[in-house]
Formats: sequence, structure tokens, C-alpha cells
Amino acid sequence: MELLFEKSRSGRGCDLLPPLDVPPAHLMEGMGRETPLDLPELSEVDLSRHYSALERRAHGVNNGFYPLGSCTMKYNPKLHEELAALPGFTGVHPSQSPETVQGCLKVLRLAEELLCEITGMAAMTFQPAAGAHGEFTALLMVKKYHLDRGEAGRTKILVPDSAHGTNPASAAMCGFTVVNVPSNPQGGVDLEALRAAAGPDTAALMLTNPNTLGLFDPNILEITQIVHDAGGLCYYDGANLNAVMGVARPGDMGFDLVHLNLHKTFSTPHGGGGPGSGPVGCKDFLRDLLPAGHVEEGPDGLELRDPAGTIGSVKAFYGNFTVVVKALAYILTLGVEGIPQAAQGAVLNANYLREQLRGTYDIAYGDGPCMHEFVLTLEKLKKETGVSALDVAKALVDQGIHPPTMYFPLIVEEALMFEPTETESRETLDQAAEVLKAIRAQADTDPAALHAAPVTTPIGRPDEVQAARHPVLRYRPPEVRP
Ligand SMILES: *Cc1c(COP(=O)(O)O)cnc(C)c1O
Repeated sequence: MELLFEKSRSGRGCDLLPPLDVPPAHLMEGMGRETPLDLPELSEVDLSRHYSALERRAHGVNNGFYPLGSCTMKYNPKLHEELAALPGFTGVHPSQSPETVQGCLKVLRLAEELLCEITGMAAMTFQPAAGAHGEFTALLMVKKYHLDRGEAGRTKILVPDSAHGTNPASAAMCGFTVVNVPSNPQGGVDLEALRAAAGPDTAALMLTNPNTLGLFDPNILEITQIVHDAGGLCYYDGANLNAVMGVARPGDMGFDLVHLNLHKTFSTPHGGGGPGSGPVGCKDFLRDLLPAGHVEEGPDGLELRDPAGTIGSVKAFYGNFTVVVKALAYILTLGVEGIPQAAQGAVLNANYLREQLRGTYDIAYGDGPCMHEFVLTLEKLKKETGVSALDVAKALVDQGIHPPTMYFPLIVEEALMFEPTETESRETLDQAAEVLKAIRAQADTDPAALHAAPVTTPIGRPDEVQAARHPVLRYRPPEVRP
């Protein structure tokens, strides 16, 4: 597909800017460009067609099934976009004085109250812009908590080997040492290994429950107790809250801190580069450490205060405010009945699809029921037919289905991780199961075709190493290409 620069024809164009109705201002001497700005010149219709063509090449929730594991690619009601776009929310300036933005502060306050109720926490910050950013924020709080108590020797973060990659990365970014805790044969935390790892140098445990295998750890109370007994804090990676919201609360499981991904669970699309929101909640004894600018009740209404022992700011102003508006709208729309119903629907859909595939594919840790997602292991299939998890994922693309998460979690060989989400219909799940069964049959009869997939996309299989090591991230005219 040609780029805008290549479609450009000198002299074409469209007036997208209104005529100047103020006196022109001139740049200071020496501040202007030396060469003219090389912008593409196209008519409005050609521009419009270009972006429509790009859109048709992307796969979104509006195009078809999108079971990308650990990502919660569910349908987000369009109504919430409209609410977040109301001028009262989008037309304010972040430096306005609090008495002029009481409505916006009330949104933050109410969202905090409701999300604290859902997670079993006492206070929450909306500053972090993503899940990993929330992890980083919470770990800064953990670090300061121990330092303030004179326990500088607590330098280790315990992370199960099934953890999302951001967990060890955030711990390392905060200057902690990461200690890997192995899983037991059921896919949960190995309690003996945890007991051996927890000690006077433990700062915190980072845990996702249900974990990335889609399994709820039945030993969760014992796990948090072991860490607390060792003097460490317990941090809940709540990116998978879609499985448990309104049903089970991290606070009741013994966790002291939690982050949520509003851009997974609470009505903001995930992917596409944002904006996202990764609020961090904490128990009462940690609230003084929260980032600066926490919304509190003051003598003249709501105001922003810096908690006494704050770790400081982790982002400008209040984070991505309109994402919080959408989350609040979602929670209020679903209510106390709808929130657990959504979680139950997610769990039901994952189990339904998993049972459809049992017997056709091997399920990793497949003895008991799963939560919101499940993991297939294609190790045997690859040995027998040469068809890999990558081949199956690519073949799904030709059938209009977005590939599941591949080769993750790392403890499963040839992993395919499916998260169907509650917004998919039974018919969609049935159809996906049929497609996956047909691909499995084709692995025996025509494996070469699967190695060649996808054949319906503009690009089949890019050289992933080349793309990662030498990415070309901007257009260069032919004459200046290296
Ligand atoms: C998505 C996810 C994260 C990271 O969230 P981002 O917003 O992408 O930074 C962390 N942990 C788990 C379990 C996740 O699924």
C-alpha cells in the first residue's frame, strides 16, 4: 500500500484549517525553517480513502473474535465514549482551581470509592497511565514503606514463574532484586518454595490471581500469610480482574496493594497505544504513601492534597482522566448485579470454549475449571506433525480470528492462551471451536498449508528478528534511504 507521501501530488490539497481571523504573528528572525516542510499533498477524498483502507487492514473487536489472552479484548459500550467526550470533561484545563472543577473531582472521588469497594482497598490513585506503570507506582510505595520503617534490607520481590513479564520488569526498574517462585504441578504457587524464599529481605510478593494460566490459586490466604509473617507486603496484579470483579476481592485475599487495568476490565479498549489507566489501590496503613494530588474532602468541597508521606508524582496532573470517566460510567451502568455477572460470563465463556477443544488440543493444567482464560499446549502436536503454536495462530488470521497470545506463559511449551471475554456470543465461540478443530485436522493432512499461513493478509510472516532489531519507524523518501 502506498504511503501518503507516495500518493502526494504537488498542488493538490484540501483546506482543513479555517481562514485566519486574527492578525498573523511572525516568527523571530532565525527561528524559521531553512527548507520548506515536506508534507504530502492530497485531496480530502484521497486522504479519507487512505485511512479507511488502513482501518480495513487492522483487526479490532469490531471486526471479529479477538481472544488475545491476558489482554481482555472485550467490547466496550460506545455510550461511555460519548459520556467521556462531554464538554464538561474535555473542556477543562488541568491547572484550573479545584472550586471550578468540582464535577471532575467528584468523578475521581466516586470512581475511587467504587473501585475500592470492588477491590477491598481503602484508597486509590488514578495517576498511573497503564498496568505496568501502576506496578511501578505500587512498588515505589512498597520501597518507601520499608525505608520509612528503617528496613532498608528488604530488597527482594517474590514473583511466581507464571507472572506477566511486566512484574519482574517493574521490580527491577524500582531497584529490587527479583526472586522467582516456581509453580506447583496444579499451576499455583509452590508453598514450600515460597516459604523458603520469604524472609527478612523480602519487600513484597507480586501475584496475579487468577494467574496467567487462568487458574485461581486455592491457597491464596496461606500465600499472603506466609509473606506477611516474613514482614513483606502483598501486591495484587489486578489486570485479570475481569474474572473476579464483584465476586472476590484482593483485599479479602490478604493483599495490601493492587493495580487495575481500566483499559482491560472497565470499558476502555486495550491496545492501539492508549490512553490507558492503571490505578493503584492500597489498604489504609499505606494511604499516606500514595502519589501527590489525591482527591479529598475539604472545608469548601473536594480538593487535591499531597498525602503526608507521598512518593511524589508519577504522572502529570490526574492521569488519563477520561478513562476514569468511562470506568465510572461502566460501573454505574452495570451496578452491583451487573459487575459480578460480567465476571461470571467471562468465566463461563472461557470454560465453554475450553471444553469444546478438549480432546482436540491438549490443555495445560486442565484438570479443574479455569477462570477467564485458558492455555493450550501444542508441544505434542508439534512433535507429531511439525505444526507449531505459531502456525495455528497464523492460520486463525485467515479465518478472521485474531490470534491468541502465543508462547506465554513461559512455563508452558508451545502455548496458546485464549481469553474469550463475556461479550462474545455462544455462536462466536462455537464457530471459533469449529475453526480450531478444522486447523487441527489440517495439521495431519496438509501441514505445509499451515506453515504458509496467513495467505489473506498483505504481509504473511514478517522477519520478526529483523523487525525487532532493526525497526523502520518512520518514512524516508527514497533519495535519503540508507
Ligand atoms: C496487561 C497486563 C499487565 C500490564 O498492563 P499494561 O497496561 O499493558 O502495562 C500486567 N499484568 C497482567 C497480568 C496483565 O495481563
